[in-house]
Parts: sequence; C-alpha cells; structure tokens
Amino acid sequence: MTSPFAELGLGSALIESLTQLGYEEPTPIQREAIPPLLAGRDLLGQAATGTGKTAAFALPLVEALTGEEPRAGRPFILVLVPTRELAMQVAEAFHRYGRARAARVVPIYGGQAFDQQIRALRRGAHVVVATPGRALDHLRRGTLDFADLTAVVLDEADEMLDMGFAEEIEQILQSAPTERQTALFSATMPPRIAAIAERHLRNPARVQIRREKAAQGEVPRVRQTAYIVSRAQKVPALGRVLDLESPGLAVIFCRTRTEVDMLAETLAARGYRAEALHGGMTQEQRDRVMKRTRSGAIDLLIATDVAARGLDIEQLTHVVNFDVPSSPAAYVHRIGRTGRAGREGVAITLAEPREHRLLRNIEQLTRQKIQIATVPTVLDVRARRLELTRASLREAIIAGDLDGYRSVVESLAGEFDVLDVAAAAVKLIHAESAGAAGADEDDEIPSSAAADDRRAGAKPRSQPKEREPRGAQAPRAPGAGMVRIYVGAGRKANMRPADLVGAIANESGIDARGIGAIEIADTFSLVELPEEVVDQVIAALRGTTIKGKRLTVRRDQARSRGPTAPARTRPASGSRSSRD
Ligand code: AMP
Repeated sequence: MTSPFAELGLGSALIESLTQLGYEEPTPIQREAIPPLLAGRDLLGQAATGTGKTAAFALPLVEALTGEEPRAGRPFILVLVPTRELAMQVAEAFHRYGRARAARVVPIYGGQAFDQQIRALRRGAHVVVATPGRALDHLRRGTLDFADLTAVVLDEADEMLDMGFAEEIEQILQSAPTERQTALFSATMPPRIAAIAERHLRNPARVQIRREKAAQGEVPRVRQTAYIVSRAQKVPALGRVLDLESPGLAVIFCRTRTEVDMLAETLAARGYRAEALHGGMTQEQRDRVMKRTRSGAIDLLIATDVAARGLDIEQLTHVVNFDVPSSPAAYVHRIGRTGRAGREGVAITLAEPREHRLLRNIEQLTRQKIQIATVPTVLDVRARRLELTRASLREAIIAGDLDGYRSVVESLAGEFDVLDVAAAAVKLIHAESAGAAGADEDDEIPSSAAADDRRAGAKPRSQPKEREPRGAQAPRAPGAGMVRIYVGAGRKANMRPADLVGAIANESGIDARGIGAIEIADTFSLVELPEEVVDQVIAALRGTTIKGKRLTVRRDQARSRGPTAPARTRPASGSRSSRD
C-alpha cells in the first residue's frame, strides 16, 4: 500500500518516520504546501496553528537536505518564530520529522544562556529555530552566520509583527543569501504581511486553507460545544465531560494512530468500555471492533479519520474531537456522523488554548456557533451522577420485586431512621457508579483559555491593566511582593503593554500571568513583577532588544521611597535610553 505522503513526493525515509508517528494521511495544508516546497518554490501560506503546518514546511525542507555536513554556526535552514515556547516546539517537531535524515536542530531563544547556545551552534546544526531578537544577537556576535542558508521560514509571521519584531526580521532577511528558498506562514494576512511577502518572496506558491468551503446543506444540525483545556488536562477533562454527557455511543477522534492507542488504553484503564480503531489494524481486527460496537459491547470508539471513514453507526449519540481537526471540512465530516435519523446529535471538541483560532474558522465556514463551555467541575459531575442514580432508583421502585431486599431495610429500621438507611444505600450505589470516573476527582481542571497557552506570553487572557501616570503624580505603590522595573521606552516609541508582556515572558521565560500593572509614560514604562523574578527579568531584557532596540532596564528607584513617596517627576537620571 503506498502512503498518501509518497504521492506528495516525499522519500521513503521520511515516510517511514511518519508511519512511526502514527500519521495516516497529510492534512490539507500539507497536501498543498509540500509539493511546491519540494520543487524549491517560495511559499506564502495562510494557516493557523493546529493545521499541521509545521510538518508542511519541515518535511520538504528536510527532504531537500543534501547530506552535506553543516559548518560551525552556519545552518542550512533557519526558522523564525515569535516565542521561545514555539521555538522549542518547532525544533522538537523538526527533530521528529528529520530523524530519518539525522538532521541536527538547535533552538535559539532569549532567556537561555548564550554559552549553551553557542556551544550547540559550534557543533554545527542543519536547522536553527530562533526568535528574531536572539537570532540577531548571535548574528552580531558572529556566533551565527547565514552564508550557507538555503531556506528561511517565517512561522506565525503576524504574531512576530505583533510582538514588534518587524525590524529584526528585515535585518535577518537582508543578511541571508539572496539565492534561497523562503516560506512565510501566517494565520492572518494583513497588509503588513503582504508587504513583507512582496519584498522577500519570489513568485511564491499561495496556499490558503481557510478558503475551503463546506457546501451548504452539508453541515448537520448538531449541538456543538468546545472545552478549552491544556494538553496535560485533556484526559481528565474528557473523563468529566463523558461523565456529564453520559453518551450512549461516542466516537472519539484523534489525529494519530499513536494517540488512538494511548487514549483507548487510558480510557479502558479508567473503566470505560473503550476500543481503538485505526488504519494500522488489520481488516479482521477492525471488523471485530465494529461488530462489538454495533452489538453495544463498546461505549467509546477511539478512531482516526481514515479508519472512521464510511463509518455508519445508527446508535451514535456523540462525536468527540480529542483535538481540533486540521481543517474545517474534516470537522464537518466528523460531526456529520452524529445527529442522524432525526435525533439530536452532540459534537464535543477539546481544544488547546492555541487552537482557538481554528474553532473560529470552523464557525465561519459552518455558520454555526460552537458553544465554549467550562470543563465540568467535580460538583457538576457529582450532581449529574446523583441525578442518574435517582433515575435508576425510581425505575427500580416502579419495577417492584423488592421483597428480597425489604428485610434488610426492616432490620435496620429499628436502629436507624429509614431516611438514613435509604441515603446510605444511595451512597453505596453512587460510589459504585463513580468507579469509572478515574482518580482525578479532587483535582480542579483549569479550563481558562490562558492555561498552558504557548503564547500566554504574548497575549495573556487578562491583559495587565495599563495605567497612565499623570504628570508629576506619584505612581501607586507596587502590590505586596511586587517590585517595579523601569524600561527606557514609552509611548513616544509606540510601546504597548503587549510589547512588554511579550518581551518579558518570552525572553525571561516567566509566566505572563505573574506580570502585574504596566504603566506607559511618554518616554519610559514601568512594569510590576513578583520580587523573586525581577533580577531574572532584568537580566533577560538587558540581553535582548524590545521593538528592535536595546533599552535601559533596571529596578525602579522610586520603590525605595515607599508607598507614600512624595510627588515626583520622572527620573532625571541620564540613564534613559537616548534611542527613543
Ligand atoms: P501544527 O499545526 O504544526 O502545530 O500541528 C498540529 C498537530 O498535528 C501536531 O501535534 C502534529 O503532530 C499533528 N499532525 C501534523 N500533521 C499530521 C498528520 N498528517 N496526521 C496526524 N497528525 C498530524
């Protein structure tokens, strides 16, 4: 059987890696982007995170590596990404996809010691994945050299611009050889991105996955709910949702075979009647699972898209997307399996915070609302289970035939209140039915969209409030345990709170949610930070550029004057950045 990845022109070594990763077929962006990139063309791709875009550029670029050894500090491929989290993720993905070709990948980002990065660069890397500020720093120090670059990728270009990296990107592209391949990916295509593409891409192939249309009438009427949860919380969140929804029969879709197997095993271990269905199984194995599904021996069928194709099960009550599917069409296709024969279907999607945009794309295409809900709490699940217990009790009472049990109640009735006896019986049934719910009973599952957002640094859910220091008025004292830092650029330099949050979180690696109030004055900004991270942040910011400039960063001296500091004007110290 030839792999659908082979049809795109990928060689057998990479295809073998993909099979091992459990990928069954290319996602739409991969189908569109891989052939032109393999042909050496430039590419302008509009695709959000979660569409499989990393593999869409990593696979063809790795395929094009010649086997030549990279020289110290001179990579062949440079990928620019907006945040350190993304640098790590993309480097990790490149490593996975490039394993068959023994591609060495080095992530380079702010907040990490230069020494370590320099050592890794010296060893020679085929691929460098970098945040723009840090890449430029290395370029200036001479520890990174772009002379041997054959390909440059700008990943999440809109995010990079939002974070103020425009100048760095320009400088980097100007330092790269003109004879090179360039790919630009962006979730949105505002004019600023189009301008960069115009300047730096040559006759690019254009790929726009969002254009895909779901034919009218194809979208079934289904109750659609999404829960935003971090990767680590997906399994417990799924458990709660399943307990709340108590589906008759659900198909749970995963992206890869590996994930299908993992989830089927995990759910089975938690007491659910769950089985796997994917393309790596023999026809006979699949037939057996389908038979058990139809006979009612299975409640949860965990499947890949490929394996579930053509699946037609009358009893299906729920479709669950363990991940947001890689295209709106795939979503429509999946949820079309429920809600048949006039019954209401339910589609549930577990989305990671960074996949929010994919949900919006789907809503736009289907013109239907996806309700964003919070993960049920232990109390919700408990209430629901009690409701089920009550319903079962009512049925049992109506069904009668209780004589064999009455004597137990009677014997206890002399000693205890009959209501207590009944309540204890309910407790026992309840405890029994809770068996499947797993061990996460007491853990709260954070369902906020900020949880584990790899871009929390750039766009925290609750933006810190921007306060405007007015004239000679003293800014209020920092909160308990918080310290203010002074950054030598303000409104005149177009500094926005998001620039500061982005720089701090990405360069120093601290959690953006820990950042306190931000004040932006004309020529400087003040940022409140937890005392324990202040030195780390100052060191990180001093080692990088913000909005393309190296700025003065230090503890705000006003702090020592205490909360009742007299009115003051901004420091007359000459340490303010003269570059504003
Ligand atoms: P990305 O949009 O690059 O962040 O990828 C999103 C997720 O999809 C990652 O977890 C990848 O491992 C996964 N993925 C990428 N391509 C495929 C594919 N063809 N089949 C299954 N999963 C994939």
